Amino acid sequence: GETIGANFRNTVARFPDRLALIARQQGVRWTYAEMLAHAENVAANFLAAGLEPGERVGIWSPNNAEWALTQYATALAGLVLVNINPSYRLSELEYAVNKVGCAAIVTATRFKTSEYVTMLDILGAEKLPTLRHRFQIGPETQKGYRNFAELMQPAPAEARAKLHAIEATLQMDDPINIQFTSGTTGAPKGATLTHHNILNNGYFVAEAQRITHEDRICIPVPLYHCFGMVMGNLGCTTHGATIVYPGEGFDPLATLEAVAAERCTSLYGVPTMFIAQLNHPDFAKFDLSSLRTGIMAGSPCPIEVMRRCIADMNMAEVTIAYGMTETSPVSFQSSTTDSVERRVSTVGRVQPHIEVKIVDGEGRVVPRGQPGELCTRGYSVMLGYWGDEARTREAIDPAGWMHTGDLAVIDEEGFCNIVGRIKDLVIRGGENVYPREVEEFLFRHPKVAEVQVIGVPDPRFVEEICAWIRLKPGESATPEEIRDFCQGQIAHYKVPRHIRFVEEFPMTVTGKVQKYLMREAMIAELG
Ligand code: ATP
Ligand code: MG
Repeated sequence: GETIGANFRNTVARFPDRLALIARQQGVRWTYAEMLAHAENVAANFLAAGLEPGERVGIWSPNNAEWALTQYATALAGLVLVNINPSYRLSELEYAVNKVGCAAIVTATRFKTSEYVTMLDILGAEKLPTLRHRFQIGPETQKGYRNFAELMQPAPAEARAKLHAIEATLQMDDPINIQFTSGTTGAPKGATLTHHNILNNGYFVAEAQRITHEDRICIPVPLYHCFGMVMGNLGCTTHGATIVYPGEGFDPLATLEAVAAERCTSLYGVPTMFIAQLNHPDFAKFDLSSLRTGIMAGSPCPIEVMRRCIADMNMAEVTIAYGMTETSPVSFQSSTTDSVERRVSTVGRVQPHIEVKIVDGEGRVVPRGQPGELCTRGYSVMLGYWGDEARTREAIDPAGWMHTGDLAVIDEEGFCNIVGRIKDLVIRGGENVYPREVEEFLFRHPKVAEVQVIGVPDPRFVEEICAWIRLKPGESATPEEIRDFCQGQIAHYKVPRHIRFVEEFPMTVTGKVQKYLMREAMIAELG
């Protein structure tokens, strides 16, 4: 029943001198006591600037130490943190800021080639009427902005007193965070989450990995997403572990360097990130012996990749997690004590204090072992989509069940398999084809580096199977060769009729393949 701020203070009291945060690209190495001091200053300075509890503060920045400070400072002051995707451009930024009515925004000077400040200035006060305060991370301070470094200075006594008074009134069920979903299936939705939602989830996610204050978790995943800020940051700070950021955005080399140099014990990533590290030409040069566990999540995790994490990255206790932004996020996670077989092939068992059921199209619970829509209920379910009653009611039914839109199977012992998204299920000539199954099979082809399977319209079978394949460097292949590989191995109706060799897939910044964009491209091509 704690708030995020109270929990953070407790951890600091237990481990004041242990390292809380390492941001390698910035040379930041803060102990827990230092990080709390900074976060308190930022929180009090937010209040001194005139922000009131419950107001929304947007953060639009790649990963850095200031991102984390903004997260803990807003939680201490009862301000609602709004995670804004660093890949957003003008129209998406305008939508997000106005959708939730941000009173302030914290942004970076630059990230790769994009200039956040320039974009904010282009929109200006006219298009962003609720925005009263702009804070800028980085060496420069443009007109109309206050530098984040100022927020880290000691705050006036009055503001500090106000902070303490506010902290005493915060409730665990207050909204504290709005996270936008990845936008894998369409426009992102803003999920409203409470202290209780995300603090507990961070705690249980770390528990499943047996994290203690001696662990160091390498976080190359974006903080803007729950994987970084909840499973990463809150996973660490609920246990006194050390947060390690390899860099601003994902880079396989920087991640390998961070693990080796900081002796990280846990590593997070979506499957594509692990694939990029495993296939990096310098992979063998890094000493990854400190690794013990980690989490692969966010999209289907190929069994082969899981096995390589165990064999080649020393992640003997690697886990898979399944979740969604709307449920804080994790509902299922394997635990380090599950057998390797289970850990590589399922998303584990349901997390403590979460209820699940699998239902058919009519909402009836299906027999064990049968696929159906996964529904979850418990502490982790969001309050709702911010300012969107109708979609909230579509997602969460009156009994409190979150309808995930994912197809899953749960076996006799409670281990869950995510079969795919309902929207991605292909029905070819009346036969259900789960893209995941075909992907797993094609992934076994020695030339295949990555593969994604979708359904595309077909005059004869309504839908046909289509595979996009990225080959390993230097390889070439023909569609016939791939189809020959399938012959006699998988049912004929699962063999991809359309095969495209591609260099990359349309992706969200969270590293997920946007199959709806693949489908649009194929429809345009096939006419
Ligand atoms: P949007 O809702 O905007 O289309 P999204 O659903 O990808 O995007 P997230 O909340 O980031 O946004 O992701 C949750 C989804 O990711 C789940 O509903 C599920 O489809 C998928 N997912 C997460 N973890 C796993 C996993 N371990 N295995 C398979 N799929 C997963
Ligand atoms: Mg979703």
